[in-house]
Amino acid sequence: MTMADLTTNVRYIKGIGEKKAQALGKLGVFSLYDLVSFFPRKYEDRSTYKPIALCLDGETVCIRTLIADMPRLVRVRRGMELVKFRAVDESGSVDITFFNQNYVKDNIQRGDSICFYGKIEYNGNRRSMVNPVYEPEGSDKGVTGRIVPVYRLAAGLNQRILRQAVRQGLDACAEQLPEALPESVRERMHLVQARYAYENIHFPADFGALELARRRLIFEELFVLACALSDMRRQRVNDNGLLLPRADLEEFWSTLPFSPTDAQRRAAAQAVEDMCSGRAMSRLLQGDVGSGKTLVAAALIWFTARAGYLSAFMAPTEILAEQHFATLSAMLAPLGLRVGKLTGSMTAKEKRLVKEALQNHVLDLVVGTHALFSEDVSYTDLGLVVTDEQHRFGVNQRSALIGKGRRPHVLVMSATPIPRTLALILYGDLDVSIIDEMPPGRQKVDTFAVDESYRARLNGFIRKLAGEGRQIFVVCPMVEENEELPVKLKSAEEHAKELAAVFPELRVACVHGRMKAKDKDRVMAAFVAGETDILVATTVIEVGVDVPNAALMIVENAERFGLSQLHQLRGRVGRGPHKSWCILVSESDSQDVKARLDIMHQTNDGFRISEEDLRLRGPGDFFGSRQHGLPEMHVADLGADVNVLQQAQEEAQRVLALDPGLDEPENAALRERVTKLFEQSAAGFN
Ligand code: ADP
Ligand code: MG
Repeated sequence: MTMADLTTNVRYIKGIGEKKAQALGKLGVFSLYDLVSFFPRKYEDRSTYKPIALCLDGETVCIRTLIADMPRLVRVRRGMELVKFRAVDESGSVDITFFNQNYVKDNIQRGDSICFYGKIEYNGNRRSMVNPVYEPEGSDKGVTGRIVPVYRLAAGLNQRILRQAVRQGLDACAEQLPEALPESVRERMHLVQARYAYENIHFPADFGALELARRRLIFEELFVLACALSDMRRQRVNDNGLLLPRADLEEFWSTLPFSPTDAQRRAAAQAVEDMCSGRAMSRLLQGDVGSGKTLVAAALIWFTARAGYLSAFMAPTEILAEQHFATLSAMLAPLGLRVGKLTGSMTAKEKRLVKEALQNHVLDLVVGTHALFSEDVSYTDLGLVVTDEQHRFGVNQRSALIGKGRRPHVLVMSATPIPRTLALILYGDLDVSIIDEMPPGRQKVDTFAVDESYRARLNGFIRKLAGEGRQIFVVCPMVEENEELPVKLKSAEEHAKELAAVFPELRVACVHGRMKAKDKDRVMAAFVAGETDILVATTVIEVGVDVPNAALMIVENAERFGLSQLHQLRGRVGRGPHKSWCILVSESDSQDVKARLDIMHQTNDGFRISEEDLRLRGPGDFFGSRQHGLPEMHVADLGADVNVLQQAQEEAQRVLALDPGLDEPENAALRERVTKLFEQSAAGFN
């Protein structure tokens, strides 16, 4: 047999034929390297043998025994046979039974020393064990007397096959495992070597060894991620960008009816600095709901137009595009900017006219949806792309935008406040501006958590506010079909019907995720226009929609929402001159839920809320796979391992400071991992 290396196909492994190789492929395992990098999902602690007499009823244990009598075959009925025998140790005895595994009779003899792993059951004072895992004492099967790995499976595989395959994989190529961590980093962080880590993550000698292996592999994974993000930033820094001439933003600020906050000024100045630097801007503008991000974008659009370039402003939905079109036109048209819009619902003719205008650069700004970047739209002199997104853009989407013009500057706006520690990593490839200050006079949205006993009072409150001409949002959790629910959840549709019955005098509308986009937009637009009083919705209600007349946000089953999500929802009210409230309805009596809802009552500060959310729930929320566009992690939990993430980030900076391109020979293995991560992610980013 030829020598195997890490790129060798898994079929090299004894016992892995075409079928099993296909099954492994479903798990993403193709090469020997994939195989040894396929880490266990969990472990079973079979490390200690227990004296039989000390085993408890129902306990799953390892025992080390002597076979006390000759295994015999018992025919219970047709098609059902058992092998039965008794096994003993110095402390006691146990009856062992195997169903339909007649071969056991030939493998086990009286007087053999055999170790078993299985569940002990008591019947009176007799103990029994059925279909245990077994091996002769001192065998190298490794199924008892140690910590045993448990893998994720696919049809056609079982734990035994995987364990044996991984064992062989490690034996074949442990020597060749690349050391992705530079020696200096490994030493400074007191991390074990790759070889030790791979061996012990699969077949830990003991729990101490497992911990060492895990620590190293988690660090390695996050370190590679941090290097990859830095590398992206570095490549971007090398991109030449449009060099715009300087101009004093004061000229724009002075046209406003109010003065910008210091935070708005600072953010705009940072972006202007980018645009005058000769490199392409890729900046994230992060600010809580209502912090005035649009105004910063407007200033930059003005700045870009003054330099003779066109801006494109992309919103996630039609209705938001309409709103931004209205606000931006109102602000910029008086200054002589030509503003157009491009959305999916426009007629073909309207679209054609706008596209021509973009091509001929007779517009200074176009506001729209994804339609802005469809294939048939081409821009002349595109200088700035602004995207207003609830969530972060995938990396490849950004590059699609950039591909549209000759390297326009890009500003991504996000209303999801995330703690600084996470932002550093999550947006490692972007420059970040944070608006951490609210425009003056913004009133606090008073927030209360209540239970069903308040229902009548709550209805009274709705009636009172509606009587004063205010509008009301009611949000119900999204109910997945076939979701099994321990509690009664309010579905938006049902709840809307109930409310319509309670308030015959009010106009109640409903919008939810299963509606067609067009219908959703129609219902939303009617609410924005004040044609309905109560809007019952799932969280599809558009983030960022401005309904200044809305003064009450009710969230049903509030326990189902994350704090940051509740904060976003609350941001839908209190946007006008009216005193506003947010009522969180929950029947949950869990202390954890109470603590979370109480934070909503205490503060309106999105950053504080996100930090509390991080503290209470871990960062799973922020790293929810769809939100960030980062590659999937194998061992690291981007959430739980935040501290390691930070260390990895620091170490990555240290290494990159000395060898920015990772070109030095000692960083070759790292370079390869970083490149690979990009390749995999390119497919996954969207
Ligand atoms: P968001 O950051 O949520 O997108 P917007 O840009 O929609 O916030 O701004 C929210 C509201 O605050 C808008 O009505 C806007 O006109 C107003 N606003 C923004 N900046 C200021 C400011 N410096 N002073 C007063 N009002 C402001
Ligand atoms: Mg906004």
